[in-house]
Amino acid sequence: MKRLVMKFGGTSVGSADRILRVAGLVERYRAPETVVVVSAMSGVTDRLEEMAHRTSEGADEASIRSFVEHLRRRHLSVAAKIVELGGRDVRDEIEALLGELEKILVGISYVGELTPRSLDYVLSFGERLCAPLLSAALEARGMPSEWFTGYEAGIVTDSCFGRARPLMELTRERVREVLLPRLRGSIPVVTGFIAGDEKGRITTLGRGGSDYSAAILGAVLDADEIWIWSDVDGILTTDPSLVEDAKVIDVLSYTEAMELAYFGAKVLHPKTIEPAMEKGIPVRVRNTFNPDCEGTLIVSEQEKSDSIVKAISVMRDVALLNISGVGMIGVPGVASRVFTALAQQNINILMISQGSSEANISVVVERGDAERAVEALREEFLGANVVRKVEYEEDVAIIAVVGAGMRGTKGVAARVFTAVASADVNVLMIAQGSSEVNISFVVSSADAERAASALHREFINGG
Ligand code: ASP
Ligand code: MG
Repeated sequence: MKRLVMKFGGTSVGSADRILRVAGLVERYRAPETVVVVSAMSGVTDRLEEMAHRTSEGADEASIRSFVEHLRRRHLSVAAKIVELGGRDVRDEIEALLGELEKILVGISYVGELTPRSLDYVLSFGERLCAPLLSAALEARGMPSEWFTGYEAGIVTDSCFGRARPLMELTRERVREVLLPRLRGSIPVVTGFIAGDEKGRITTLGRGGSDYSAAILGAVLDADEIWIWSDVDGILTTDPSLVEDAKVIDVLSYTEAMELAYFGAKVLHPKTIEPAMEKGIPVRVRNTFNPDCEGTLIVSEQEKSDSIVKAISVMRDVALLNISGVGMIGVPGVASRVFTALAQQNINILMISQGSSEANISVVVERGDAERAVEALREEFLGANVVRKVEYEEDVAIIAVVGAGMRGTKGVAARVFTAVASADVNVLMIAQGSSEVNISFVVSSADAERAASALHREFINGG
């Protein structure tokens, strides 16, 4: 392997010892050309977000100062330890960043308003405070290193603050210009999660977006592999808090990994796969705290796989909406009105199904959106004789059965629903996309664990 991008998550860099451990891992696994992407120290982004909101709602200067002081202590203690080990002294850099953070917070408190743009600016400090520490830790272990913000490294996005999208062509050009000449003999440390728009204003890629940053860099640098280091052994066959014999999946295809990421396996940011998939770059998920475990490898083809079903995922905190009425039969445009009404409220639809009688449409949305969704739909259809009823049920969960091996294999659905029925679980709604990589269905929350265990036994740990 010649060129490697490695990303380390917040818990991996949560303390001085952990940052030094990460430096050890970089030393052990680095390729001749290595780029390191880093998140904020664990919990820091959450606290920045909370503080930004509190500030805009009137927190006073004293509480801003004590917040900044807390961050100062946490980061300076790491910086001091690195100096003791002979690494470069980044304490002035940290101080300067904290001074800047304090000013912007005070500014927000005066204005009393938090725009998405200023929130991104505040959130950027988590990664900006952490990257110099890791870079200095690498140097303390004898690996020359410089650090860059995502924007300095060349990642340019649109101006959609809070969930910016990379402008890939421009990013490719700039990243290569900045990083390629520096890869020989030095290890660049790049902040994950944050980038900048064409005007150079700080943007973020969405919470948890450091994985995505690593994938973007890997893709534009034509890396041989992208490694995502976190605090779990890899992507698991199911939720271990529900099914105790959940185990690590060795190999997944990009499609399977995407399905799982969207369905709430929180190991990977859902957008991570796309840039890697486009370039066919393998992604490996590994555990900082158990580096001897090989983790999960995500590749384009999974010839090695002989299992039909790779994982059973459970997504809670969702609500099932039922839109019904005999007046819907044969009337074109009902589905489109349902989707438009929800889209206008910015409500994300997780699952859709309509039987061929056309007398009802079911959709699943996040639980927090349920009431707004029902209101929007009632308003849309009120009075007309098309939809008679809009109902919703909150105590439900989606179970998704995922595996590329299901494609074209007969009898999988029969096995799925036989197993679920044998566990005495009632199914409320079913959907299977025609990609056949995922069969999803809805059950009541109380039944989710039993359904998942039964399926895990049927497809993964039994049969
Ligand atoms: N620090 C950011 C967050 O907590 C990005 C990340 O961790 O990937 O959302
Ligand atoms: Mg994080």
